[in-house]
Amino acid sequence: MPPRGEYSQRRRRLAAELERRKLDAVIVTALPNIRYLSGFTGSNAALLATAAGDAVLFTDPRYQIQAADEADCRVRVVKGSLLKALLETARRKGLCRLGFEAQRLSFAEHEMLRAGLWLGAWLEPQTGLIEDLRMVKSPAELEAIRGAMQIASRAFCEALCIARPGVLEIELAAEIEYRMRRLGAEKPAFDSIVLGGARTALPHARAGREPLRANELVLVDVGAVKAGYSSDMTRMAFLGRPDERVKRLYEAVREAQQAALEAVRPGLAADVVDRAARRLLAGHGLERAFVHSTGHGLGLEIHEAPRLGKGERLRLAAGMVVTVEPGAYLEGFGGVRIEDTIVVTSNGCEILTPASKELLAL
Ligand code: ZN
Ligand code: ZN
Repeated sequence: MPPRGEYSQRRRRLAAELERRKLDAVIVTALPNIRYLSGFTGSNAALLATAAGDAVLFTDPRYQIQAADEADCRVRVVKGSLLKALLETARRKGLCRLGFEAQRLSFAEHEMLRAGLWLGAWLEPQTGLIEDLRMVKSPAELEAIRGAMQIASRAFCEALCIARPGVLEIELAAEIEYRMRRLGAEKPAFDSIVLGGARTALPHARAGREPLRANELVLVDVGAVKAGYSSDMTRMAFLGRPDERVKRLYEAVREAQQAALEAVRPGLAADVVDRAARRLLAGHGLERAFVHSTGHGLGLEIHEAPRLGKGERLRLAAGMVVTVEPGAYLEGFGGVRIEDTIVVTSNGCEILTPASKELLAL
């Protein structure tokens, strides 16, 4: 739970941005953004946040008690359409220039909003309005992410004791998720990825019913959610003694990850970090084997701004939390990815993932 006053502080920062964008209010429909601005964690809500810095949360009767308990703003419990009730409130308050979250509102919801407008009122699509505010984490948010990272890391290390030839990918994934929950996680941050052998070359496949085999790579990409905040890590193991080709691939990715970590600095464009990893892999002839971006922000969502990818000009700032996760994937052979969750500091970064980065020989 953030300290008292943190939600109203966030709404004041949003209000200043609404002022800059010449809006009277914004209709917030993305649940993580609603949580960020009000503290409400239910699954059905809309929020009207105004340029004066106040907010009204709309939800349905199932959440009456929870909303009164959680929300740090006025709450209206509505039986019918939340958006209709929200528009009525906006109209009563004389709010006319209404922003909406262009990437978070369905076509049907937009149609409904448009049909409910009155003379003199209009809708303006917004992107990144609240997501940009969320990039730099407060001490309370950092604390939650740190906790989520420690849980995932510990669950991973403990669960490795069951990893042996014949164990199914989903069995290892289930063991990690079980331990995460026992260690205090609310849930996994995403479908845990556990892959063996040639399947490690599929960067985002899910754990399946395939058995892990002797003398093969194992890729484990997991995260936990604590107090609403996510963590994310990837580590590699080998069931047996890795041969030279595996060791070389692993070392190349490890060097690329180290180069990317060393490139992180406030004030630098996000793509500088991506380039550092890419340059290193290119030196090993692996530029075409690196098929995703180097990292992503995380917090109330597992993927959020900023993205550490090609052409990303956004400047890094102290307090941003991102992953650094270069990888190299060779079809038919296997892949390696090494991923840490880090926080940008005043002169570089702090790695929040405590697990060892050696290639674990099991
Ligand atoms: Zn990951
Ligand atoms: Zn990730």
